[in-house]
Amino acid sequence: MRRADITIIGGGAAGALAVLHLARSAQANGSTCSIELVERSERDLGEGLGFSTRDQGHLLNVRAEQMSAYPDRPDDFVAWWATQGRVLDPHGFVPRAMFATYLSAQVQDALASSTVDFTQTRAEATSIARSNGSLIVSTTQGDIQTKDVVLATGNPPSEGLPGVLSEDARQSEHFIGDPWIPGQLDRVAETDRVVLVGTGLTMVDVVTTLVGKFPNITMLAVSRHGLLPAVHTETHSVLAVDSETMEQRHERFPGLSPWQHFELGKEQAASSTDWRSVFDGLRPYTVDIWRRLTPQQQQDFLDRDFRQWEVHRHRMPPESWSLIEKVLGNEQLLVMAGNLTSVTEHDHSWVAHIEPTRPETSIQRPEFTQRFSTLIDCTGRHPDAGLSTNPILRSLHDQGVVRGHATGWGIDVAPDGIVLDARGQRIEWLHSLGSLRRGEAWESTAIPAIRQQAATLANALTASD
Ligand SMILES: Cc1cc2nc3c(=O)[nH]c(=O)nc-3n(C[C@H](O)[C@H](O)[C@H](O)COP(=O)(O)OP(=O)(O)OC[C@H]3O[C@@H](n4cnc5c(N)ncnc54)[C@H](O)[C@@H]3O)c2cc1C
Repeated sequence: MRRADITIIGGGAAGALAVLHLARSAQANGSTCSIELVERSERDLGEGLGFSTRDQGHLLNVRAEQMSAYPDRPDDFVAWWATQGRVLDPHGFVPRAMFATYLSAQVQDALASSTVDFTQTRAEATSIARSNGSLIVSTTQGDIQTKDVVLATGNPPSEGLPGVLSEDARQSEHFIGDPWIPGQLDRVAETDRVVLVGTGLTMVDVVTTLVGKFPNITMLAVSRHGLLPAVHTETHSVLAVDSETMEQRHERFPGLSPWQHFELGKEQAASSTDWRSVFDGLRPYTVDIWRRLTPQQQQDFLDRDFRQWEVHRHRMPPESWSLIEKVLGNEQLLVMAGNLTSVTEHDHSWVAHIEPTRPETSIQRPEFTQRFSTLIDCTGRHPDAGLSTNPILRSLHDQGVVRGHATGWGIDVAPDGIVLDARGQRIEWLHSLGSLRRGEAWESTAIPAIRQQAATLANALTASD
């Protein structure tokens, strides 16, 4: 059996940031440890879901100046690329692959100058058992005896449009369930008519790839709300809010959701202020605003304002919008608000049955049905943490070691990321990073949030050694 002090499950950006910060903290704290990272996919360490794309049209949706791996050196991403001969506009949006390259270099450098002993295993982690006072992580490549486990498993894939597609349809050549799997979009042919389910950032990326390959391809994008992501401005301005003002708002208007704080901020700002400045000015407080809400208030926000929040929060770069605007303008891309209720096969193609939810966005087709050749699931990741689909989470859930967060987003954790069991007790050896913490912190999926979590976790784990 292999031995490691710390076992990290998941080698996406969160797992890589954990390795990086553990190496740095061990060095800084004069301690040492052994780490084994288990990743089930073929992707390189740090690439994960967000940063494995090689398409240069797939841009970061966060400005370069915010993509450092270090909370204490926010300009490091831009500074590192300068050492490689690439001068980046700190306010600009660069290809996502550039973040993967940067992160990989940071991890290698940190490991080279650190005392930690690092191993990476290509395997799926399936369960954790306690035996004679120690922990055994089982993987498809053998067991690891360990002291601490870090769950960095990200979000599970979308469920494959349940209720719309049968199991047979899901296996069909017409369906692309996960456009992020390398090579999947190569299945689309130039002559295809494509239906995209989802109108968020994944849809924007898929359209970018398809138009890049086939300039004349036609696409219909459908989602319940039919809303496209908002667009970043070229220049960045933030209407900073001081903590005293925030406290006053909390006292006068207790229980305001993040969205209501945004609306209040807009009301109080000069009419010439761009809404994005107000939104971004709230960013340092979003976690605190969320944590102050009661479970019912959190649920009300999710029921009422979630869509609007997401559309404003996850914006596309201006460059991506230029392309989307063009293909909307020439009707290569049609966007509609509706429920895709079913698809039926007809003469070697599929017909989509869509019930419009906002008739004014309906495309001018008599029965709102489309004959098409490829259906692509662009709904993005599943909000459920993978409790039912990821073997390690399912097993921990079955043992009562993990429970889902009350909102349905992620799992129940303490503010420091320690996992809470079915009775709400801290499991001191079980740590979490990234989207698993979304229900507790709400802002927990972008790099600025994850790098802070990883640095704090690393400091705690190496200081106690
Ligand atoms: C398309 C896209 C674009 C994005 N763009 C940006 C951006 O521009 N800026 C930004 O800050 N954020 C961006 N994000 C957010 C992004 O999700 C996070 O920044 C980050 O990539 C999340 O990393 P992660 O490691 O938590 O999750 P993931 O990238 O999902 O990685 C989790 C890893 O865990 C592995 N895993 C899961 N279960 C097991 C198991 N049982 N055993 C072994 N391995 C397992 C998976 O294979 C996966 O590789 C983007 C996200 C997406 C999806």
